[in-house]
Amino acid sequence: MFDKILIANRGEIACRIIRSARALGVKSVAVYSQADKAAMHVALADQAVAIGGPAPRDSYLRGQAIIQAALDTGAQAIHPGYGFLSENPEFVAAVEEAGLVFIGPSQSAIRAMGLKDAAKALMQDAGVPVVPGYHGANQEPEHLAGAADAIGYPVLIKAVAGGGGKGMRLVERPEDFAQALSSAKSEAATAFGNDAVLVEKFILKPRHIEIQIFGDGVDAVHLFERDCSLQRRHQKVIEEAPAPGMTEEMRAEMGQAAVRAARAIGYKGAGTVEFIVDGARGLRPDAFWFMEMNTRLQVEHPVTEAITGIDLVEWQLRVAAGEGLPMTQGALSISGHAFEARLYAEDVPAGFLPATGHLRHLRFSEVARNDTGVRSGDEISPWYDPMIAKVITLGPTRVVALKRLEAALADTEVSGTVTNLGFLSALTRHPGFRAGDVDTGLIARDLDMLCRDAKPELWQIAAAAALAIDLPYLTDPLTGFSQSGLIWQSVDLEDVGPLRIAVTGPGQARIKLDDRDISVRAQGDALRVEGAPGLVRGLCAEGRITLFGATSCDFVLRDPLERKAGAEAASALVLAPMPGLVKAVFVAAGDTVEVGTRLAILEAMKMEHSLTAARAGTIAEVLTQPGAQVEAGTALVVLEDEA
Ligand code: ADP
Ligand code: ADP
Ligand code: MG
Repeated sequence: MFDKILIANRGEIACRIIRSARALGVKSVAVYSQADKAAMHVALADQAVAIGGPAPRDSYLRGQAIIQAALDTGAQAIHPGYGFLSENPEFVAAVEEAGLVFIGPSQSAIRAMGLKDAAKALMQDAGVPVVPGYHGANQEPEHLAGAADAIGYPVLIKAVAGGGGKGMRLVERPEDFAQALSSAKSEAATAFGNDAVLVEKFILKPRHIEIQIFGDGVDAVHLFERDCSLQRRHQKVIEEAPAPGMTEEMRAEMGQAAVRAARAIGYKGAGTVEFIVDGARGLRPDAFWFMEMNTRLQVEHPVTEAITGIDLVEWQLRVAAGEGLPMTQGALSISGHAFEARLYAEDVPAGFLPATGHLRHLRFSEVARNDTGVRSGDEISPWYDPMIAKVITLGPTRVVALKRLEAALADTEVSGTVTNLGFLSALTRHPGFRAGDVDTGLIARDLDMLCRDAKPELWQIAAAAALAIDLPYLTDPLTGFSQSGLIWQSVDLEDVGPLRIAVTGPGQARIKLDDRDISVRAQGDALRVEGAPGLVRGLCAEGRITLFGATSCDFVLRDPLERKAGAEAASALVLAPMPGLVKAVFVAAGDTVEVGTRLAILEAMKMEHSLTAARAGTIAEVLTQPGAQVEAGTALVVLEDEA
């Protein structure tokens, strides 16, 4: 076994590999970009080496710099994780030339599977069923159109060098073929520098079922299947193992086909053979076809680990260090059912837009295995994939495992960025998914239902307002005390509108919304809200209020200070509209100000707000200074009375 390995990756997969290495007594070296200096994988590793700027091409894709880091730190092998350099045969060659071990397959195995047409031809020769279609060299449009007619519509045009669903076109009618072909080709040329395509039968009601395989360079075993049919635009969202409805007969057929594929290329290490399955008439042993092989550890490998009890990264290290296959096919078995949900920082209603943010708070459920690369306080930066975690649950049956996934998601707390948590939770309640009736079109068909934002309840709005002023943390005994009565502040929530809140005592407030008056009281870090079904927990960060728990929801704050100006127009007093820290004061007694002159900056609700003069006049007195922590309603600046 190695003494030390280098991990050429970041995020959750780097952390996950470090843990398995450590369990084997193997030291780990992390590499990191400037954006990742303080990242979790760097903290977790035994050593870490800076390799360049934040953009992947300046760091995680710099093969030579990474190899040099391994040589400098005395690492004997490099684990590529997934993405980045994991399926790059030139990198494998360079690693081996430097006298290091690449923890993964040979460069020839990666090359053999790199192009879809060549891979399909190879698999056909090895006796693996492939999707009916044309994957030959003739790229003449007339020839391809003829092939499509022979296959029968609908057909799928795929870029041979494709990945991530790019360069793929569904064609339903012959008259649309020419147009689809030229757009697929131009997209493929731009994305992959290779415009060759293949044409294949489009499977109706397709299911994506893949087989985890493991080879030692000569022989191979399979570790059963994963169902990855829950996809959005060809990207996996929730995966599970085993596949719903799978029969022993079909599993054996698919497993053997995948093992044949692995043997045909002398596969070494962990790999995945992806099949497309026709789910229209139930799972049948003659209705699955090879799509492609991913020559690396897959994002969704934990569901396989959960049902087999095997640590796949441990196997990767052992086989790379020269051991044979750790187990025979007969010794492998399935126990229970597992799910994985990919938790992302993304704005689902805005079309699954990737998001960034500072994670003020991050807490995972103990019901699940949570593979993550971030902690409370970390950033989701714009540079990399915005995955926050993979939430993995196991149960004795599918029903129990899914129930646990639902519970684990409800118990997962993220504050500081928008996430797809609500969308994932809605998926766990989808009747078709619950029944195991999955296909790759499920999400698209029911997108509206899955993304619908329920109208917030009054108590949720009241809780959001209380969290906006950090009510649970206003514990000073004098909080809310004022000789002039209650001080009403305005909190403006997007899609709700402005509402008024007054602190009535330590950790207590009243909220006015339309003609309703709701009282809220802090209890520890939670809130007891009039009308709520139970205690409410949540946080405000980066202008976004997140309520946690099964009825989680999100609110966005509109800058309240912009509206404040009008409300105090008549007043000579400029008050702090919320508790906060005075960051700067720009005026002194005697200064004359115009409407809108900046008086001070208050940092509150995790944002900086400028306090501006609501009317023209002369400053009579400044009652605060930079660095002061002020309560809501504290007088900060006094203007001279209007003449
Ligand atoms: P899977 O089929 O397991 O989802 P993908 O090939 O779609 O695998 O990608 C695996 C993961 O690696 C995804 O999270 C993706 O965002 C990331 N990834 C893929 N290619 C790259 C790359 N070149 N650089 C960085 N990350 C990548
Ligand atoms: P990529 O390299 O982009 O991952 P794949 O060939 O793996 O491309 O296909 C991605 C997804 O497209 C599959 O998971 C499946 O949902 C869908 N798909 C691929 N081939 C077919 C087909 N012949 N019929 C129906 N759907 C398909
Ligand atoms: Mg694929």
